[in-house]
Amino acid sequence: MSTPVRARVEIEGVVQGVGFRPFVYRLAARHGLVGWVRNSPGGVVLEVEGAAEELDRFIQALPAEAPPLADISSFRRSPLPPLGEASFLILSSEGGDNRIQIAPDGDVCGECLTELFTPSNRRHRYPFITCTNCGPRYSIITGIPYDRSQTTMAGFPLCAACRIEYDDPSDRRFHAQPIACPDCGPRVRLLDGDGRPLSAAGDDSVRGAVARLREGRILAVKGLGGYHLAADPFNDATVGTLRSRKHRDEKPFALMSPDLEAVRQLARCDGLEARLLAGVERPIVLLPRRSGTGLSPLVAPCNRYLGMMLPSTPLHHLLLQDDFRALIMTSGNVSGEPIIHLDDEAMAKLAGVADCFLTHDREVSNRSDDSVIRVFLGNPIFLRRSRGYVPRGVTLPSSQASVLAVGGELKNAICLTRGDRAYLSQHIGDLKNDATQRSFAETTSRLAGFLEIVPEVVAHDLHPDYLSTRFAEEFGSARKVGVQHHHAHMASCMAENRLEGEVIGVIFDGTGFGTDGTSWGGEFLVGSYRSFLRRGRLREVRLPGGDAAAREPYRMALSYLHDSRGNRMLEQALPCLERVGPRERKLFTAMLGRGINSPLTTSCGRLFDAVAALLGIRFVNSYEGQAAIELEGVAEGAASSGCYPYAVTDADGCYTLDLRPMIEAIVGDLAVGEPKDVVARRFHDTLAAAAADVCVEIRRVSGTDRVVLSGGVFQNKLLTSALHGQLTARSFRVFTHRLVPPNDGGLALGQAVVAGQRERIT
Ligand code: ZN
Ligand code: ZN
Ligand code: FE
Repeated sequence: MSTPVRARVEIEGVVQGVGFRPFVYRLAARHGLVGWVRNSPGGVVLEVEGAAEELDRFIQALPAEAPPLADISSFRRSPLPPLGEASFLILSSEGGDNRIQIAPDGDVCGECLTELFTPSNRRHRYPFITCTNCGPRYSIITGIPYDRSQTTMAGFPLCAACRIEYDDPSDRRFHAQPIACPDCGPRVRLLDGDGRPLSAAGDDSVRGAVARLREGRILAVKGLGGYHLAADPFNDATVGTLRSRKHRDEKPFALMSPDLEAVRQLARCDGLEARLLAGVERPIVLLPRRSGTGLSPLVAPCNRYLGMMLPSTPLHHLLLQDDFRALIMTSGNVSGEPIIHLDDEAMAKLAGVADCFLTHDREVSNRSDDSVIRVFLGNPIFLRRSRGYVPRGVTLPSSQASVLAVGGELKNAICLTRGDRAYLSQHIGDLKNDATQRSFAETTSRLAGFLEIVPEVVAHDLHPDYLSTRFAEEFGSARKVGVQHHHAHMASCMAENRLEGEVIGVIFDGTGFGTDGTSWGGEFLVGSYRSFLRRGRLREVRLPGGDAAAREPYRMALSYLHDSRGNRMLEQALPCLERVGPRERKLFTAMLGRGINSPLTTSCGRLFDAVAALLGIRFVNSYEGQAAIELEGVAEGAASSGCYPYAVTDADGCYTLDLRPMIEAIVGDLAVGEPKDVVARRFHDTLAAAAADVCVEIRRVSGTDRVVLSGGVFQNKLLTSALHGQLTARSFRVFTHRLVPPNDGGLALGQAVVAGQRERIT
């Protein structure tokens, strides 16, 4: 036998509270190695000793076979002289500064799932079954370090049987903080709208809930991050009732299916989509829907996609298994407010919506909505990054000052940084009411507390009226740095791709406050984290009625028509004009002609609204982004068939993309009865070709050939793919989002990097 060698390995990342030490223990045993492992302030440290080839294999297996909830961010190996120990030990933690990373919530692992459905197992049909490899983490923590006493399991002392598992290093439940069993853990209860029990606590409640769902009742059910409303999606009357009670006219409802096979009966799902669905994070994935599935048309009206997910808790498995191909699982909230996570609040606010409540006595400490993902260009794109991904860090290109970035106004999420790691919070929502503002303040202080980050710098948007901006101004003694909205989008995409130096940023967005005080949103920027120049933009048009223009796309159709044909805008017979009465015609003519209550904007989101309304697809939105989503859906029905004309003009180093020729051509196409899907597709292709042309002009001046695509419009698969293709054909290197959303949900990451780099201590 060769002489033994010894090595020390230091691992950082999410490696505590995820079964990492028992994993190391078992792995060392498998390779016949001695030594020890323990938690360290930064993660896990271990020393191993044995035959050189076994030690190498052990070290290769460490990252390759790591437990499902672990996320290794750094790994260092150094040689040591052999000591000749006799065994491998799990040592207790070192004291001191405990900068561990908290794991996100995970689904149920395969082993726990098998036990859940094994009649002889002591946790048979027990909805809180979990182990070191699975289950709740972030949602149940109340403080740090991560320990049962600092979770919402604190009130459930372990019974003798659970204690034995918890103390045994060879057990799957060794030091798994949230473990429990029917003897010592939380219990589910089924309650009516007044909080009265409908059946005995425990499994009778689960079976009672299934029976009521079958009868077409609406059930509020407590999940990992808060309450969902569950209902049978094949029952028209039930879905209709849910829509009217929730005051939600058309926004699609997400569905949960028991397994991938059931998903595939309702929607098409490729390999990557299946892996995302079945991953521990359990996000909602948008999938092209099948026809003839029997789903109520009210589940996702006017939408070619279904938002589908797999169960994220044992309770979901118990509800769905054997009984349903799918259930509607939509956030339990009052429209526009955060997902409800407290029991009292659920009973009070959902009483008129849900017929009954399947609840339990394990509290949700940190609420989080479901994450939403769409796959394209072979990558996942986040539409919402929340449960399952938070608080996982994003590695920045370099170390920087500690920053709190407060995000934007809509789809708010905040970001905290330490060193070269950035932590984006869960989705907080639109900061429009007291409930979201409270959630914003609470999430900010809690996340900073869990991560032990005291920010030196607070980054905020330039918009003076954003509530997040006002919050930043009042935030303690930290230095305040204002970051332009679209610069933040650009920096967000740069940061997750770890780009340094200068890039071209094509930022197609709703609206954001520009450095000149006007509303921007169709921007071509050139710059770095520290600074940028506006090198191009869409031609400005008016927003008739200001904010109302975003809710009512037909206003934007009028604005674009007015821009290209002035007061002749009303002459053509167009569907979007038929709905405008004589009085409104006068009003719009005056508003647009004289600019009354009609600020100028370069918003690309509003361009999509205008075209959707011109085509008669959507005149008034019942939820944010509806017109653009439906326009893309229509365009997907046609193949590419050329582009419309457009013009690019240059003034003072800033190119203007003038789409008036395109608007005229679209009106012409509609007049001769060209099919809507062909027109919609041609519009997407035109915008992509035109944007690529502007990038070519900018490259000629700046010499930069790297392009980042960011802003809410890049949730659009068709446009992103077309522009990506156009740019790569012109030899650009193109970067898109994969880790954070292109919409305002990813804004805080960009704000944090811009501010951190500007305030960098050098
Ligand atoms: Zn498990
Ligand atoms: Zn127990
Ligand atoms: Fe934005």
